[in-house]
Amino acid sequence: MTEAIQFQLGGDGILLATIDLPGRPMNVLNGITGAAIETMVQRLETDPEVLGLVITSGKKDFLAGADLEGIRDITTAQEAFDLSMVMKRQLRRLEKCGKPAVAVIHGMCFGGGFELTLACHHRIAVTGARLGTPEVKLGLLPGGGGTQRLPRLIGMQAAMPLLCEGGEVKADKALTLGMVHALAPSREAAIEQARAWCLANPKVQQPWDAPKFRYPGGDSRSPAVAQMLAIAPAMAAAKSWNNYPAITHIMSCVFEGGLVDFDAALLIESRYFAACVVSPESKNMLNTLWFQLNAIKKGASRPPAVPASKVRKLGILGAGMMGAGIAYVSAKVGIECVLLDTTQEAADKGKAYSQDLLDKALKKGRGTAEQRDALLARITPTTSYEALAGCDLVIEAVFEDRAVKADVTKKAEAVIGAGAVFASNTSTLPITGLATASARPASFIGLHFFSPVDKMPLVEIIVGKATSPETLAKGFDYVMQIGKTPIVVNDSRGFYTSRVFGTYVMEGIAMLAEGVHPRSIEVAGLQAGMPMPPLALQDEVSLSLGLHVADQTRKDLAAEGKPYAEHPGMAVVRQLCEIGRIGKKAGHGFYDWPAAGSKGEKTLWPGLAQLFPVAAQQPAQRELIDRLMFAQANEAARCYGEGVLRSVADGNIGSIFGWGFAPFHGGALQFINAMGAKRFVERSRELAARYGARFEPAAVVVAQAETGRRFAD
Ligand code: NAD
Repeated sequence: MTEAIQFQLGGDGILLATIDLPGRPMNVLNGITGAAIETMVQRLETDPEVLGLVITSGKKDFLAGADLEGIRDITTAQEAFDLSMVMKRQLRRLEKCGKPAVAVIHGMCFGGGFELTLACHHRIAVTGARLGTPEVKLGLLPGGGGTQRLPRLIGMQAAMPLLCEGGEVKADKALTLGMVHALAPSREAAIEQARAWCLANPKVQQPWDAPKFRYPGGDSRSPAVAQMLAIAPAMAAAKSWNNYPAITHIMSCVFEGGLVDFDAALLIESRYFAACVVSPESKNMLNTLWFQLNAIKKGASRPPAVPASKVRKLGILGAGMMGAGIAYVSAKVGIECVLLDTTQEAADKGKAYSQDLLDKALKKGRGTAEQRDALLARITPTTSYEALAGCDLVIEAVFEDRAVKADVTKKAEAVIGAGAVFASNTSTLPITGLATASARPASFIGLHFFSPVDKMPLVEIIVGKATSPETLAKGFDYVMQIGKTPIVVNDSRGFYTSRVFGTYVMEGIAMLAEGVHPRSIEVAGLQAGMPMPPLALQDEVSLSLGLHVADQTRKDLAAEGKPYAEHPGMAVVRQLCEIGRIGKKAGHGFYDWPAAGSKGEKTLWPGLAQLFPVAAQQPAQRELIDRLMFAQANEAARCYGEGVLRSVADGNIGSIFGWGFAPFHGGALQFINAMGAKRFVERSRELAARYGARFEPAAVVVAQAETGRRFAD
């Protein structure tokens, strides 16, 4: 077996250790790297010729973190505790052996990689390096001493947000914060600096091992820090609603670790690390936000036989809110964009959207004027279909109207080449129906973006009945090209995301009609872990749009001779629309909204109490939360059962990235897996008996409850 670290002892007595895990594009901490670190530490401790150590990486990045497969497979807290202690003992020996160790950091240096560098006596970051402790984002915490070394290095106050939010820090900011000691323009220059530092500092000790060590800014007992520590849990809970135990565990590590000596603090950290590893929240997030997301990004839902493609020229029909956003995100990655609308003024306005975003970014110090101008030069606003000649892909984002969409489809197809793909960004109209306007339905596909396009990470790709695998592959490659995450679903009314998202808001609205206090409904949404409460969300989307879609659905189903069962929440929406309370855009919906530009806060409309009197007996919050979550999970399971969803990964990632389904549950299908099909079916039936047939468990979950199977790809 090739070793994960190559050693080179210089004539100056400095040992250069280059981490280069064989067969992997990135360095990660696993058994093989662990063994190599052991060899490295031993050599530093025992080889008299070695006077100092410089650790660097032989890959593009320093080290991305721990191998998460190993963490996923851990089932007991003892295993997790032992694993973290193995690494800690090595790092402790490294920093206590008396000889200098310097880390040369380039590229990504995250998680366990950053913790390894924290055990070095000196850190030099190469320009462009990014450092951080992102463990919390997967429900974990830095279990290699990170929660102890970082606060002792930069102070509790500065360390807490880094540890609890998991953001990354660029090299220059890391220097300002004190996370690294020096910067260097290149890896080679950094190695030279590192050697010189070792030679200049032959006897070293970590600050926390010095007898008179004091935390910068004070420890857990100091009044200034105590004030922060007292309010930090409440501040975190206001955002997380205590749904993320890792955040609380990190704060406990920092606080408790600040009361004891360093070695005792490391034990405390390992205990909390173990609690995180075996928590359902971490299992859920690892499953979905790591393994399933990576599977999607590696093309699990893309037809494998089709060669990779790139869009060079993109046509966008309709320069409204969506078209303008699509032009921006595409031009940003170098795609030439033709932005077409019915008038030059409308097309120009669409381009101005990009100008506006770029100007704002520039003011905040992001990007340069040259980059802005180059991006803008790639967007050509026009009214002429001739300009679409040579496009590899055309996306229509005109009004949500079948006739208008059919008209632009025909006009564009008359110009673009035979190999080009035509995509619709419709949010509600089935793709197979829209494709009837196309002369080549095999090249017709749905690319459903979310608003605002520049911020939302997901694109839902909808495969119509006639869509070919080549078209799907091209659509998929384009979504990856613009840096978004694609999910692939089969055609259906509302596709996957709009259909399931609707059950969340509608359930909240139905509660209002039953006499549940609107404030309880909104709080239940947030407690459930959703980013926005249901009534406020419907106001944002607009009640009139909801009503319009419902009426259209009723008409379509009647034409197909199919029954239409209206959600009880829709009666409430209709009632509000009738009195002009159509949502945020009108300033009035479930809330009274402050005028655009004013600093006021939205407030629940007091008139709701007259329309929907609050019942004397209020249900428990748990009941409300379950209704909101079971409604979504059941609808997602139905999508899976009906074949709208083509994979579990798409279902889970689509729910989190598309409408913010509580991430700690790991997505709408993982919600059922984590609970177990049996319990899910029982609780669904209870809810169905109380609130209606919409809660009857999806057939696919009932079958799982009988067979013991679960959602898996
Ligand atoms: P919009 O009203 O902001 O923009 C539509 C644009 O299309 C307008 O600029 C209009 O002038 C132009 N247009 C209309 N007819 C045209 C024609 N014949 N030829 C060329 N241009 C024409 O609407 P939007 O919110 O950008 O939505 C566009 C599409 O995207 C709709 O199908 C909508 O359902 C879908 N969508 C919207 C959202 C959203 O949140 N707004 C999200 C996903 C999908």
